[in-house]
Amino acid sequence: MNSNRAKDERENSKVLYHHFLDIMYESHEIYFFDSSTLKFVEVNAVACRNLGYSLDELLTLTPADVMVKLTDEELHRLIQPLIAGKQGVVSLETSHLRKDSTIYPVEVRLHRIEKDHQTLVLAIVNDIIERKQAEKMIHYLAYQDHITGLPNRMLFNDRLSVSLSNAKRNQSLVTVLFLDLDRFKHFNDPLGHDKGDAILRQVANKLKQCLRENDTISRFGGDEFAIILSHVSRVEDVGKVAGRILDKVSESIAFEEFEFHLTASLGISLFPHDGMTREELLKNAHSAMYRAKERGGNGYQFYASEMNARMYERLKLENGLHKALDRNEFILYYQPQYDSKTLQVTGVEALVRWNHPELGLVPPAEFIPLSEEIGHVVPLGIWVLYNACKQNKIWQEAGYPPMSISVNLSTKQFKQSNLVQLVADVLRDTELDPRYLKLELTETDMMENTDEILLTLNQLKAMGIQIMIDDFGKGYSSLSYLKKFPVDILKIDQSFIREIETNSSEREIVVTILHLAKILDMKVIAEGIEIKEQFQFLRKHKCDEMQGYFFSKPLPLSEIEQILKQNKQVGASKGIVG
Ligand code: C2E
Ligand code: MG
Ligand code: MG
Repeated sequence: MNSNRAKDERENSKVLYHHFLDIMYESHEIYFFDSSTLKFVEVNAVACRNLGYSLDELLTLTPADVMVKLTDEELHRLIQPLIAGKQGVVSLETSHLRKDSTIYPVEVRLHRIEKDHQTLVLAIVNDIIERKQAEKMIHYLAYQDHITGLPNRMLFNDRLSVSLSNAKRNQSLVTVLFLDLDRFKHFNDPLGHDKGDAILRQVANKLKQCLRENDTISRFGGDEFAIILSHVSRVEDVGKVAGRILDKVSESIAFEEFEFHLTASLGISLFPHDGMTREELLKNAHSAMYRAKERGGNGYQFYASEMNARMYERLKLENGLHKALDRNEFILYYQPQYDSKTLQVTGVEALVRWNHPELGLVPPAEFIPLSEEIGHVVPLGIWVLYNACKQNKIWQEAGYPPMSISVNLSTKQFKQSNLVQLVADVLRDTELDPRYLKLELTETDMMENTDEILLTLNQLKAMGIQIMIDDFGKGYSSLSYLKKFPVDILKIDQSFIREIETNSSEREIVVTILHLAKILDMKVIAEGIEIKEQFQFLRKHKCDEMQGYFFSKPLPLSEIEQILKQNKQVGASKGIVG
């Protein structure tokens, strides 16, 4: 019973084996070749068809003739382990070369066969185009989002890891943005998911347009996208990119007969500030995105709240700054300068303020650097110069004793190539005599391109203008440039004045500057005098002029005019007559 059953099973498996060979012979390229001459001995119809040769043609060739980059010698070497009985099968991946010279990738498995005392090699060939395509598809499915074609979450994670290790090495910034469309459900549910998918594709295209090729944009699923910015080096620029993305997303989307207005919420986290690992950065960008949603959507939030405040303030200032000149929002304040002996006003310094519609009076320290950065300081500087000169002329015409007006020049302004011409134009237009204009420069302005600077200063000087070095002592004071440049006045920085009563070395510095100026035939003005002791010390050491809250703060036009009217009474009111 048992042995019968075993015999049946053997018979069955023999039938199955032959059946299997038949199928193989029908469906695969199969050929036999001689192990010593390598000549084809038998080739099936599939192989003839695939290779584009007739059987007769093939019987004159060897397999090496139809394989790319394989010689007979190499084929000999390849089958050696089979012939020696060391290996049952040898397989290789190569390409088959058709008669018409086109190729197709194949996998060939070689077996040793004994037939009529002849050693043959059997080759079973698998076309691997399909396998390669399948592999590609598997890769695509694993790493790409099938709706938008963007990298999916897995590829995003890989790329973020790479960006982070690069950034650790280069000590650079990596920015992760997490974007979620606002109220996408409202569009997606009634339209159906196919149309929802088409909208997501349009959003993906918009994102691509806002970003650089090196940035990674990925769809995380649903209406969530995540972005890695790897080229941005400043927090301010991250805000700009975020703003650009939101603007782009909110442009209307035309779809069939509809037009949509989508908006998005963006959360931002920065390496290294907001996290060192991939998980932390994503988690924090995600929670920042929720905060943006809570604030009503269509906005972005940094994970760290002080970044939000900083960006918000800056953007508000930056936006306003572009329009402030046209809207006439700048005003000049004037701070009087006094002769230390006579206590008469010898001049005023023009100090600009920005009368911001929401923030009130913004001091120059907050907007001049920003203004320099966005390239706005040149027109602002011209405005200041023109209005200061004009005002001085108006005072003279109104009968006030002539005095000088000091105008601060920013570094960028000083480096403008047409500065000399510009100053000449302003003086001509306002009809102010050049000897009543003082230009305040800083030491750092003078340190670069000294030849050019020397030329500019000489030209200004030749016009009759006075040159003053502001904040003297704070920068890289160098005797050599002081000697070389046509400087009329040194303005001692207020930090030295502040320390006069408490710090003996600051006192010595002030006395030295006063000496030095005398040797170089320059005048000295001290700024930031707040108390009587400072005034007395400076007067004792023969500082020529003084300026500071002790006398007066910078004042708006109407108030400075009060001071100019009662010019001579200042000494009496401070108890320092004479
Ligand atoms: P600065 O030219 O050194 O101006 C002196 C600053 O010290 C002024 O500040 C003034 O208000 C302040 N100050 C005067 N007396 C005292 C005092 O007794 N105690 C103290 N603690 N401070 C005193 P402000 O007006 O805020 O100007 C700051 C800086 O902004 C100026 O420094 C100047 O560098 C710049 N700036 C002002 N106006 C202009 C302008 O029209 N163009 C350019 N490029 N820069 C300007
Ligand atoms: Mg100044
Ligand atoms: Mg100063």
